Amino acid sequence: MPIKTLRSVGIQKFVEFYNEFKNGQREETVRLLQQNGDVIGAARTRWSMAQRIFESEWEQEVLEYITVAKRIDDRIKDKALELLNMERGNSESMTNSSRDNNPTQEKATGENEELEFDSPLEEEVDAIGVPSEKRKIYTELGDPEIESLHGKFKREKLIVQPDFQRQFVWDSTKASRLIESALLGIPIPVIYISQQSDNKEYVIDGQQRLTSFFSYIDGKFPDGTDFKLTGLKVFRELNGKKYGALGDTFQDVIRYFKVRTITFKKESDEDLKFEIFERLNTGSVSLNDQELRNCIYRGRFNLLLKELSRDADFTFLLGLKKPDKRMKDMELVLRFAAFHHATYLNYKPPMKNFLNGEAERFRDIGREDEAKLREAFKNTCQVIKSLFGKTAFKRFYKGTEKNPGGYWETKKFNASLYDILMYTFAREDKNVVFQNLDAIREALICLMTDNQDFIDAIELSTSSLQAITKRFDLWRHALQDIIGVGRKEPRCFSSQLKEALFKTNNVCAICNQKILEIDDSAIDHIKQYWTGGKTIPENARLTHRYCNWARARKE
Ligand SMILES: [Zn+2]
Repeated sequence: MPIKTLRSVGIQKFVEFYNEFKNGQREETVRLLQQNGDVIGAARTRWSMAQRIFESEWEQEVLEYITVAKRIDDRIKDKALELLNMERGNSESMTNSSRDNNPTQEKATGENEELEFDSPLEEEVDAIGVPSEKRKIYTELGDPEIESLHGKFKREKLIVQPDFQRQFVWDSTKASRLIESALLGIPIPVIYISQQSDNKEYVIDGQQRLTSFFSYIDGKFPDGTDFKLTGLKVFRELNGKKYGALGDTFQDVIRYFKVRTITFKKESDEDLKFEIFERLNTGSVSLNDQELRNCIYRGRFNLLLKELSRDADFTFLLGLKKPDKRMKDMELVLRFAAFHHATYLNYKPPMKNFLNGEAERFRDIGREDEAKLREAFKNTCQVIKSLFGKTAFKRFYKGTEKNPGGYWETKKFNASLYDILMYTFAREDKNVVFQNLDAIREALICLMTDNQDFIDAIELSTSSLQAITKRFDLWRHALQDIIGVGRKEPRCFSSQLKEALFKTNNVCAICNQKILEIDDSAIDHIKQYWTGGKTIPENARLTHRYCNWARARKE
């Protein structure tokens, strides 16, 4: 396969290689690699050497892939690093620039540190939609020789163990193998450095590796013990030797060994630098969209988002005990603000850009707008809390033929429901809504269980223009039906009747099984009783939502 083709197949191909390799089809993988011509060919020799050294440590071999891949396409490299990192957890060692593109798949903790969603908050995540000049971090690529870095280290211009870093933890075998890699000319992964305003350079990532090199040259580990090579498998004759005993040839290989460095220049945005800094230290590099916005669109609006995300009603609705660690709570406030200001009629996908636009436009929000937004937000949260409590923004599922009992989703939030509820109640007269709580609640549950268009619009490609328009329209109409009626007449007694029926006998009149939740009950024979009006208690029968729905379809 010519290089060009290989480039065009990109990541996908690499993942195939990787999987084949992992599945033990080593020969097939090697064959594939060999077919890929010169690019790979150059690395093949080194690769087989690497195999000899690290027989069982396949990660070393993947690193060789990475070296190869780097020449083909940086994106492949990222993918490879991601795969490798996933495989290994995040201990500092040979690879670091892994990506973390799917935070929603992180393991959920019992403490709700992070929100869980039905579907990703923002779809079609390809490139980050923030203007590139705004997330500029000034970096410099370098390939300095070990000797030059060592010199800077000695002059205290390069700080290898900044305060925030853990100490040197590699054992002498691991450090020795790194030296052996250098002797074999195997490249080591990128070292990240941050240039600070004191003009010193701080190693953000790569501390263990650099310390290994410097210790070897200096003859001693940081704890004072001698550094003699140990555990070498290719250069066995060098085992037990200190740097001084190596002889010129080997010393020179180490001294002139080049390391790829990425230096964050001091001109870089401090906050952004800080964030990246922290990420490198925890083993994952990329910021999610909201974290980027938080860095990039700093200002009054951002502070307001932060403030509102701590609102007591809001955190209650989301079930958050403390701020979401990936800022998804702030992103939800931004989502509210974007629909509130622009209205859903002006929504244009992708969601990411819609939200960026809002953050940009209101970045330095005026006092008056700020007060209005705060009030709307607090009102709508209050209303939704009264309406749905802990089940707010969660789906209600009707039962099935086998099991007619319906139920509330307990864990996952549905951002589509969030959008429509937050939007509509910020616009309605609170008093009118409070007079119609039961009917409104009922209407939403009906939509979620009976209306397939609505269901589709909250569970399929939810950020599409069509889905957004559909769900907002359907919900607004349902709401208007109630509020339009309720405004003139006192509350219809249906929900009270339902409650009374439920308390006396909560058995479904159709399937004769118990109805476990009052939310799962419907009153039979009365069509859309929640639109108000002609409820005749004598004719009312309590049923499961599912049974009621199934019966209506049969007749
Ligand atoms: Zn039933």
